Amino acid sequence: MSKKELGIMLSRLKVFESPSMKLEQYPTDSDIASDLLWNAKMRGDIEGKIIADLGSGTGILGLGALAIGAKKVFFVDIDEKAMSIAKENKSMLEKDLGKKLNAEFLVGDVNLFDKKIDVVIMNPPFGTKSENVDTVFLLKAMSLANVIYSFHKSITKEYIERVVQSNGFRTTHYIKYDFPLKQTMASHVKRIERIRVGLWRIEKNS
Ligand code: SAH
Repeated sequence: MSKKELGIMLSRLKVFESPSMKLEQYPTDSDIASDLLWNAKMRGDIEGKIIADLGSGTGILGLGALAIGAKKVFFVDIDEKAMSIAKENKSMLEKDLGKKLNAEFLVGDVNLFDKKIDVVIMNPPFGTKSENVDTVFLLKAMSLANVIYSFHKSITKEYIERVVQSNGFRTTHYIKYDFPLKQTMASHVKRIERIRVGLWRIEKNS
């Protein structure tokens, strides 16, 4: 599979039916997801790895990781409705790929998750509705894995760096994206609003 084919496959997944603003439910754009996943695969962070997708929503990040060789993915989300769409997406992808995917779906708060994993790949809430939820996700991820891919708002860059460094991690890659928020929430007046987001790859200091 090429990066382009991965992007096309991910663009066909179902997204939130009625996204909750309180839970900051916005799906990752399929081009951005395939870019991130492809780069992660090239760095050896996907194939054969046990991965957690925290705040997995409809599952695009974890499912993409499974499609390109992850050994197993744990999907963790507090919203049952989002999780059932993620399960549907998994079945659809299995048909497309003609193989079974090793996924485990866990409904509950991110802080309750406690499995042994290699890598976290997440697009968590940015903390615009519920203060500090981005930090909660990041701290949880750092307690679970040595390698983490995580999206945060660009304007929080200095703050995120401080949290990373004060917890014994370092940033190895930082990539800027413009996130399209496509009419997913009623309060977005413009058809496509964009927000500046950074993708961090962080690694535990050895
Ligand atoms: N990762 C998905 C969804 C991003 S939206 C994607 O990239 O498309 C953020 C997700 O975090 C939502 O699905 C929301 O339900 C979930 N979420 C918000 N607060 C949470 C919490 N405390 N614990 C677990 N999941 C949470």
